[in-house]
Order: sequence, then structure tokens, then C-alpha cells
Amino acid sequence: MKVAAAFAGLLAVASASPQYVKTPAAPKNGNGINPFEGTEYYVNARFQKTVDSSIKQFEKAGEKNLVKASKVVRDISTFVWIDTIASIKEKLDVVLPDAAKKAKSSKKPVLLPLVVYNLPERDCSAKASAGELYVAQNGVAKYKKYVDDIASRLAKYQGKNIKFAISIEPDSLPNLVTNVDNPATPEVEGVPKCDAAGPYYKDLIAYTIKKLQFPDVTLYLDAAHGNWLGWNMKGAADIYTEVLKKAAPATIRGYTINVSNYNPVNGDPLEPRVQWNPAYDEAHFALEFGNLLKNNYSAPHQFVIDTARNGGWPIKEWTAGAQWCNIKGAGIGARPSAVNVLPNVDAFAWVKTPGESDGTSDSTAERFDETCAKEPALQPAPEAGAWFHEQFKMLLLNSKPAL
Ligand code: BGC
Repeated sequence: MKVAAAFAGLLAVASASPQYVKTPAAPKNGNGINPFEGTEYYVNARFQKTVDSSIKQFEKAGEKNLVKASKVVRDISTFVWIDTIASIKEKLDVVLPDAAKKAKSSKKPVLLPLVVYNLPERDCSAKASAGELYVAQNGVAKYKKYVDDIASRLAKYQGKNIKFAISIEPDSLPNLVTNVDNPATPEVEGVPKCDAAGPYYKDLIAYTIKKLQFPDVTLYLDAAHGNWLGWNMKGAADIYTEVLKKAAPATIRGYTINVSNYNPVNGDPLEPRVQWNPAYDEAHFALEFGNLLKNNYSAPHQFVIDTARNGGWPIKEWTAGAQWCNIKGAGIGARPSAVNVLPNVDAFAWVKTPGESDGTSDSTAERFDETCAKEPALQPAPEAGAWFHEQFKMLLLNSKPAL
């Protein structure tokens, strides 16, 4: 799903920054709180089932340490991806009553983290996570209905001791920063699918923000990662605030970063990329991008860092920035937590489901992206989102901190 930018030497070109006009937050929405704090994190039974399938294989092979590590991981909270229209019924309608049941007997509110991921022309600069909707096939109306259907369900689960954290459309706005024709960055050639999709992405994300304003819902737009946007944070801030203006007075709390990616929280300051990217790792990205949004745009500036798979650092190939598919050597990273996190950061969380593939290495598949069949991608790999036992094993073995 990822196209990380490798734009060494590029500098953001200064242009007048449109101020994000802060309008008072809609009175009853959950964007004023950090939902990861003081909550019990919901564990997805669907994830547990897939981990169990790997546990069986580890048991057969006599891999006791991997069985033990898997049993730790299976009880950790992962975001639930509502990544098709069908998944509203298949996933959301399963986790909502289940979370409500848990919330009834829980002293603390239950945190249910979700990803909304079904834009038309999805994953416009890569192929591996292409979606089911297209503008030419009534995708705009279908997407709105998809969002409305999610919203009407969430409406029924307000005031039930559940807090929802929602990541909106991973990679979409980042693609509009680096993968479209833009006079501010003449060095970058636009990807035609992204150029065409851009205006729809902006309108539909604003629509989603507006529709998902609820007292127990906290919204995060996706903002890629430091290796992708760190070199052009001003360009990024301009796009995010443009979308936020469209949505106002509806608002968000902040941004999910590093979703499905492998960038470390704390990178190596001696790496060459530091010279052209001051926000090369996720700690610096949250700090620098957050401060820019706060100080120059008065915009929301809190972050959730996906640490599901960024524990295996360092791997030299990653520094090229163009790798994003099932990277060899990756490991599980920090456990989800809101305790002792960094400036501008709400929490570490597992947004990507560790063990689910980033994309298939089968060159005959419709969603084949060659990144998934090149070094350093682990192969053979199944379709994006499908369980990938060998990758799961690798993530466990390289986990940092160790499981
Ligand atoms: C896939 C989704 C999947 C998600 C979580 C994405 O790369 O496109 O279908 O749900 O990863 O594993």
C-alpha cells in the first residue's frame, strides 16, 4: 500500500501558507481527548484466530519460543480495518456488539480502534492495495453510502463506555503531497491516477470527517511517515489544512503516522538521510510536523504512531525510502501504550495488523505491484491483508523490545 518518498535533496518550496482557521470544535465530539489514555484496549478475535493458525504451525514444528511469543501478541490490540463495503457487515457488525459486551463489565472505557479505508481510486500510486471503488463507476456515491453506514452504526454505540479511535484513509493525502503535479515541487512528476483522484480524495475525506463527529469518536487523518513527508512538511500542512477547512466546523484530533510502514520511532542520527530530512524518524516527525501545524496553522497536532512492525531497525535498504512491501528483517515494535509517549504523541498503537501482508508477489495477480517481488520484500507473499505466516514468524523473531 505504501509508496514512501525518496526525494533526497528536495526542499519544500516556500509559498504563502493558508492559515487553518480554527473554528470551535463541535460541542459534543471526542476530538478533545486522548482516547488511548485510561482505556482498556479492545482485542480483535479475528486477529486472534489468525495468530492461532500460526501457533498451530509453530507447535507442529516444535518452535516453543515462537508459540510463547505468539501467545503474547494474540492478546494485543490491533486496529480493525473497514476496508470494503462488505467489511461493514463482516467486521464492524461483529466488533461493535462484542466491544459493547466487554464495555458493560469494564470499569474503564473500552478503546475500539478502526481504520476507514475505501476511497475510490484507493492506493493511487501503488497497486497492492487498490480498492473496490472507482469514480467512473459511481464510486463517489458508493463511498458516501459506505461512510453513512459506518456513521449510523457508530451513532448507536455512543454513551456505552466505548471510545473509538479512527484512522482515516491511510496514504491518501500523503499521495497528494508527493505524487501529484504541484507547482511547489516541480521536481516531482505526478502519478496520473493520483492527479485524477486528488479532488475526490479531498472532498470525500472532508465528508468523512463531518459524518463521524460523535462524543465517543476521536478522528485521526493519516499522515504517512517521516521518511515520506518529512522533507516537505509545509507542502503536507497546506494539504491537510485545506481538507480541514472543507470539513470545518467538524474537526479531528490529529494524525496516524507510520501506518503499515517500518520507520523507526528513534532512527540513527548518523544516517545520510538526516541531512535532507529533519523529520526522518517518527519521533522527529511528530515533533516537527506537529509544531509546524500548531504554530503556523493553528491546526490539530496530535499523533498516533503505528509501531506494529518498526522494531527491526536498522536495515540499510529502508533508507532508500522506496521500500514498503513485506520488508525482510522487520520486527514487531513497541506495544500499544499512551504512557510515557513523546511530545505531540497520543500513543503507540498497532494500526497495521502484524502478520497481514502488504501485497502479493504473484506477478499474475491483478493487484501485483513489483515492489512486492523485489529485494528486500519477503516472498512468496499473499494478497494485501491476507495472513502471511512466514512474515509473522519473522516479525516475532525480530521483535524489539523482545516478546
Ligand atoms: C490492506 C488491507 C488490510 C490492512 C491491514 C492493508 O495493506 O490493503 O486490506 O486490512 O492492510 O492488514
